[in-house]
Amino acid sequence: TGAIAREHIKSITDKLSGGKIVAVTDVNEEAARQVVKQYGLEALVYPDDKSLVNSENVDAVLVTSWGPAHEQNVLNAIEAGKYVFCEKPLATTAEGCRRIAEAEMKHGKRLVQVGFMRRYDSGYVQLKEAIDRNEIGEPLMVRCVHRNPEVDEKYTTQMAVVDTLIHEIDVLHWLISDDYKSVQVIYPKKASRAHANLKDPQLIIMETKSGIVIQAEVFVNCKYGYDIQCEVIGEDGVAYLPEPASIVTRKGAKRSTDILVDWKDRFMDAYDIELQDFIDSIIKTGQPNGPTSWDGYIAAVTADACVKAQESGQKESVDLEEKPVFYTGKITVQ
Ligand code: NAP
Repeated sequence: TGAIAREHIKSITDKLSGGKIVAVTDVNEEAARQVVKQYGLEALVYPDDKSLVNSENVDAVLVTSWGPAHEQNVLNAIEAGKYVFCEKPLATTAEGCRRIAEAEMKHGKRLVQVGFMRRYDSGYVQLKEAIDRNEIGEPLMVRCVHRNPEVDEKYTTQMAVVDTLIHEIDVLHWLISDDYKSVQVIYPKKASRAHANLKDPQLIIMETKSGIVIQAEVFVNCKYGYDIQCEVIGEDGVAYLPEPASIVTRKGAKRSTDILVDWKDRFMDAYDIELQDFIDSIIKTGQPNGPTSWDGYIAAVTADACVKAQESGQKESVDLEEKPVFYTGKITVQ
């Protein structure tokens, strides 16, 4: 019942349809009780995730605990045969993601959706549609930017990959329908505001199997705002991720628009759309339709290769196993 959990509880309770919060749990039981009270939920507080997932009243589970707990939370939900939406990361290791995929395949039908919400952002959806319609021809290069105004002292060089770049890692292979082959990390001149142990900014170069080269900048002390950019350069043209809508002012010989500061504001709609899709797909098709356990595995393997590249300074290969047939099928609405 931490920060993102409370956002999801508010959405499901106040905005979305088809779902109701009927059970909550937290390592700190008192925190769970507080949330029930604060949001006026008709929900029971369970002592742990195992008892919660096994409750008859529970059809689907949202895993919003801290990352290292996700794997066991998801495995427990699968074992109980419950649908499960898991915030990123699906697991903190590639082996953990693989174990989840194995358990899901053994169960025999898709139960898991990973919270890679950018795939539900209308800008990324439009960008993908333009690429799929061949409007810019074959993609050759991608340039993207992930900037945060600041981070706290606990933020490490590795977190630039596992917490920040992870969203680009997921959304980009989906966007260009390709798999990663290799990655490399370059450290430009260090920003003076970056704390002593943090290398910031970082430039991550990712090459796909078909040869598309992606250049992704992570800069978490940019000061000026939260800024997400993406530009796909094709054979016949270039497509840009739309900027968030904002009024333009002309004043004092300057033309200006606001830039967001809080990451929550940038993808607020996408969070709602992804959860609504999770609920609707389960109701209509009996399976979730969003990013799969295998996407969680791809993200983990690619992030591991990026962390290795951070340390080695070399190009590192992304060694993905072949996608099981279980994760290739399209789900049709009945
Ligand atoms: P948070 O506010 O710190 O919440 C984490 C929750 O996990 C808290 O309820 C915390 O309980 C609980 N927890 C702590 N230790 C635990 C343990 N050993 N076992 C089980 N649970 C434990 O963090 P958050 O920002 O909500 O993030 C939660 C997850 O969502 C993270 O995996 C994060 O990466 C992900 N997330 C994703 C996005 C996105 O863009 N998709 C955005 C935000 C977060 P206490 O409060 O009692 O310690």
